[in-house]
Amino acid sequence: MTLALEAMKETADSKRNEVIVPAYTCYSVPAAVIRAGLQPRLCDIDPLTLSPRMDDLKRFDTSRVLAVVSANLYGVPNDLSALEAVAESIGAYMFDDSAQALGARIDGRPAGAFGDLGLYSFDKGKNITTLQGGALVAKSGPLAQAIEKICSRLSSTPLVDVLILLAKLPVYSALLRPSLYGGVRKLPFLRLGQTTYEERYPISTLSRILGGLGSRMLERLQHFNQIRVANAHNIAEALYGVEGIHPIQPLPTAEPVYARYPVLIQDSKRREIIIAAMDRAGIGATASYPLALCDVPEIARALPADDLALPGARRVAKCIMTLPTHAYCPPDMPARIRDIAVTALGP
Ligand SMILES: *Cc1c(COP(=O)(O)O)cnc(C)c1O
Repeated sequence: MTLALEAMKETADSKRNEVIVPAYTCYSVPAAVIRAGLQPRLCDIDPLTLSPRMDDLKRFDTSRVLAVVSANLYGVPNDLSALEAVAESIGAYMFDDSAQALGARIDGRPAGAFGDLGLYSFDKGKNITTLQGGALVAKSGPLAQAIEKICSRLSSTPLVDVLILLAKLPVYSALLRPSLYGGVRKLPFLRLGQTTYEERYPISTLSRILGGLGSRMLERLQHFNQIRVANAHNIAEALYGVEGIHPIQPLPTAEPVYARYPVLIQDSKRREIIIAAMDRAGIGATASYPLALCDVPEIARALPADDLALPGARRVAKCIMTLPTHAYCPPDMPARIRDIAVTALGP
């Protein structure tokens, strides 16, 4: 993402230095913007769909915007056609961040293929994983050429780092099995469930070994995604009618892949209770990213006053809970989720 933004900067008018990011997304996104020497700007989101609020996009001085970024969190596509149209109308790039949405579609097109440039991540917890790394997809043209040029100067990942990662892979996959989840999930080197802001990460080419592993998994992507969609459907059915719990609504033309199943809980206190109860039952529910980006101190410091209080993103940060959808989820999980939710949210 950092080098894609650098390429955008190189190929656009130099007075365009602002990158609009949805105010609730992975902290790595604004970190990449800042590291690329650009100005992050935040756009509020609709808590019901998690999609950027198009009316909030009107707030920006369009002559300064370099790029508009999507989020597609949990594999649920944003209104990518609308974002693409807005970016095009103001002469900015659209960066389709599909880090969590490999295989999802909206309006009949793949997430990651909207706008000028798409990104997929193969980090931990993504649709397919090589524990780190990712891919950029771009139409051929000046932007793709600029990216290629920057990539050609990158060094490769040191072999020893690749070997360390490969040694962690079996631990990571074992961890998804519920019987082991409680015991190993707290292993500090995996840093699961932690969200930290980091601007000083190394950037190198994906090693051939990890790339090979990724392409093997890519062949099975549809299979993995079908399981995730089926599990999400079963959770949705089980939660139907439970008061105080509101599933995120995919947009009408969206075909999500549900890297996680996102819901809003009526308030943060109840969310805490419900997550603790899930945890005791061995179900890995999470509160996702703890803060809206405008409330992360390192990011807030870089923002203009206009971007500091975004109610939709704040509500999501306080109330969102995500549930697992991976292939090791046991068949009785949706019913257990319902029981726990009913007990925790009851009178
Ligand atoms: C994970 C993630 C990223 C960053 O990907 P990494 O490969 O972890 O650097 C960017 N955007 C979103 C929405 C993500 O979930």
